[in-house]
Amino acid sequence: MSQSHDLFAAAQKHIPGGVNSPVRAFKGVGGDPVFFKSAKGAYLTDADDKQYIDYVASWGPAILGHAHPEVVKVVQEQAERGLSFGAPTQIETTMADLVCDLIPSMDMVRMVSSGTEATMTAIRLARGYTGRDKIVKFEGCYHGHSDSLLVKAGSGALTLGVPSSPGVPAALAEETLTLTHNDSDEVRKVFAEIGDQIACIIVEPVAGNMNCIPPEDGFLQTLREVCDESGAVLIFDEVMCGFRVGLQGAQGVYNITPDLTTYGKVIGGGMPVGAFGGKKEIMSHIAPLGPVYQAGTLSGNPLAMAAGLTTLKLISEDGFFDNLSAKTTKLVEGLQAAADDAKIPFTTNQVGGMFGFFFSEEKNISRFAQVAKGDMERFKKFYHGMLDEGVYLAPSAFEAGFVSSQHTDEDIENTIAAARKVMATL
Ligand code: PMP
Repeated sequence: MSQSHDLFAAAQKHIPGGVNSPVRAFKGVGGDPVFFKSAKGAYLTDADDKQYIDYVASWGPAILGHAHPEVVKVVQEQAERGLSFGAPTQIETTMADLVCDLIPSMDMVRMVSSGTEATMTAIRLARGYTGRDKIVKFEGCYHGHSDSLLVKAGSGALTLGVPSSPGVPAALAEETLTLTHNDSDEVRKVFAEIGDQIACIIVEPVAGNMNCIPPEDGFLQTLREVCDESGAVLIFDEVMCGFRVGLQGAQGVYNITPDLTTYGKVIGGGMPVGAFGGKKEIMSHIAPLGPVYQAGTLSGNPLAMAAGLTTLKLISEDGFFDNLSAKTTKLVEGLQAAADDAKIPFTTNQVGGMFGFFFSEEKNISRFAQVAKGDMERFKKFYHGMLDEGVYLAPSAFEAGFVSSQHTDEDIENTIAAARKVMATL
């Protein structure tokens, strides 16, 4: 038996399910999760010293590969100067200035410690700013685990939301409307009826939590228009796609300006960081400038700021995203060719350095219902075959994949060769 097997058994004694975040438990693919002991560049090393080419990238942050020497150096240097002050530091201003320089929609930004905190606070802010309680989200989008966001649709667009986890009060869930992602008509219909009660729309402008789903033509534009007409706040949750599908994230790629944006993952360079920000008029309602409360002992933590700032500087270099995107295209085209040659129904999506693949008869996958119809058994077999071949993919058919700047052409060719071998067995 592998070390991972023994470590997983030991972990379950005192950690619920043996993991500190549920998707790590491999429920989506079966079998024991792999326990890792180190990571460098595009590679992970597990507890048995087996190496994997990594396309999870810590679920997105490792855009420069793991343990990038410049990022590690600034974190070490900062650690010598103190781990946390709970008081203002200059590096927080440098970070805020850089984010607002890079992202045209950002007048002001507040740092927090996770994506969940960022989206939870953006919603509170939108509610406080508009004086309205209802929020709109989309099926298949994930925005962290705060109460208002762990809500599924009742049947029909205008029925009440129902909690998707015990512990979420029904009274709160009722304020969350969950609509069909990429369905502009449904959005217009709901706003025509109750637009004046809606505080905000929150959306992943490139969805990464139902595999990788780009916006259909006109969808983000529709969201912008209904928010303008109704006075609702448009929140782009760019925790995953921000600084990943391009330097300006999805708002840069699709040229739509949200009112607020949330970040996480890449902005922390692998350290626990989230951020939310946007229009000054709205951000001025946050404490201590305004009455909407939000705080954090570790917010703007100096180690996290050092890692994030260095990461943002390195990804701002000329050609960074062109290279990342070209590598990702090479990967998805290679996977497609491998599937075609094996006569396996298969299709892919890609936006910049983010990708998804589907064992599906359908092409052009843009709806959650299409993703859910994919061949999950084939995905599981493919997943474990790739794992055996030393390729670490997200252990769920509902997650996106990520390429880093450290993946070489050879890494990608080896991944495609592994896929050919595994596809032949499916
Ligand atoms: N929003 C999106 C789009 C995410 O992908 C995630 C995490 N995968 C979150 C919010 C929550 O972030 P965190 O896990 O850092 O709380």
